[in-house]
Amino acid sequence: MNSSKDGMARLALLGLPQDDNSTFLHGPRLAPPLIRKALFSPSANMFAETGIDLGADGLWQDAGDLPLSGLTRQDAHDVIQDGVAAILARGQAVISLGGDHSVSWPAVRAHAAQHPALTILHLDAHPDLYDNMEDNPFSHASPFARIMESGCVARLVQVGIRTLNEHQRAQVAHFGVECHEMRHGVDVADLTLDGPIYLSIDLDVLDPAFAPGVSHHEPGGMSVRDVLHIIQNFGGQLIGGDLVELNPERDLNGVTAMVAAKILREMMARCLADYAAVDSAGG
Ligand code: MN
Ligand code: MN
Repeated sequence: MNSSKDGMARLALLGLPQDDNSTFLHGPRLAPPLIRKALFSPSANMFAETGIDLGADGLWQDAGDLPLSGLTRQDAHDVIQDGVAAILARGQAVISLGGDHSVSWPAVRAHAAQHPALTILHLDAHPDLYDNMEDNPFSHASPFARIMESGCVARLVQVGIRTLNEHQRAQVAHFGVECHEMRHGVDVADLTLDGPIYLSIDLDVLDPAFAPGVSHHEPGGMSVRDVLHIIQNFGGQLIGGDLVELNPERDLNGVTAMVAAKILREMMARCLADYAAVDSAGG
């Protein structure tokens, strides 16, 4: 992954305005421009807490939104996979802005093609491991079942989970998912991560007190600080990820969009810092 040309941004943001695969409410298709607006809000600066100035020229690029409206689910899936793969092929990392969580399956497929021993770190209230829901095996309730069936990743490490039913517990065991349930607390030291990491964050991992603008309110979740601490401290190298499930139609005064932007800023900074570390090691 050291192939990018001098002067080219190492990271791209890509909007995936898709919520045709949501099972309860719609709205996440509206999220990408609102997350960008919050990211650039004059109420805050562009520094990540770790000291990287994301307002500096040339560090990252906004790759815009993929044109997904009016497509069939299968066509949208293909456009997402091809769109992410095209950015990776020019040597940039990709952080995708959902959209609902169904976008992670095609986005992860594109990343796994470049990283044969990829670990997914997945923050969510829900394990999203349903074999099928509402006769749509590609709904936002199933992306990690499709990923694990495909065998395209080495590990799936889930954190924040608090909605396991019998079927999903069986899926966890079947696929060998490392599922850290919220009831046992959150300790980043328990995750023992290394190598290339794809980070998928569903905003409903947060307690609804912190993030009301999501489709599925699941109380008993993480604080914003819990999520930031994980992003800043997990082992391994962040090579890409997604931030999904902001539902602007449920938000209050844009607070969840601002939370999304705060989390995004730290994801971007971690990704850029990990690339710089690999570069300076001559890797
Ligand atoms: Mn999810
Ligand atoms: Mn969820």
